[in-house]
Amino acid sequence: MELNELYREVILDHNRHPRNFGRLDPADALANGHNPLCGDKLTVTLRMDGDAISDLKFDGNGCAISVASASMMSEAVKGRPRAEVDALFDRVHALLTQADAPSDGIGKLAALSGVREFPARVKCASLCWHTLNAALANLQGSAPSPISTE
Ligand code: ZN
Repeated sequence: MELNELYREVILDHNRHPRNFGRLDPADALANGHNPLCGDKLTVTLRMDGDAISDLKFDGNGCAISVASASMMSEAVKGRPRAEVDALFDRVHALLTQADAPSDGIGKLAALSGVREFPARVKCASLCWHTLNAALANLQGSAPSPISTE
C-alpha cells in the first residue's frame, strides 16, 4: 500500500469512527473552536491530573479532516503532560505547513502530512489543536472565550 493511501485510510477511519467523541461532565476545562472558512465547529472538554491531561473528549460538526484530526489528537494527548502536548502541537503544525517536516515518532498523526497538499484544509486539521490550547488556557481561571481560526 502506498504511504499516501495508508494515510488516507487512517483519516477516513477516524472520521467514520471518531475516538473520544462526546463531552466530559464535569470537566476541568471546556473550549469551543470554529473554523469559519469551512464551517467546522468543535467543543473540547478535558480533565487534568496535576499537569497532565488525564481525559479528553470532543464533539461538534465538521468536515472529515477536522473530525479525523480531533480524533487522532484526542488519542495522542491523553495522559501527556502539558509540555509534551505543546511539543506535539509544534510537530503537527510543522507537518501541516512545511514540506520537509519530519513525520517520525508521532504515530498516526503523521497521516496529517497529506493535508499540506491542500492549504485550504490546514485550518480544518489545526482547529482541534487551537481549541485544545484554548481549553488549557481556560484552566488558569480566565473567562472561557470562543476561539476562531480567523
Ligand atoms: Zn473543515
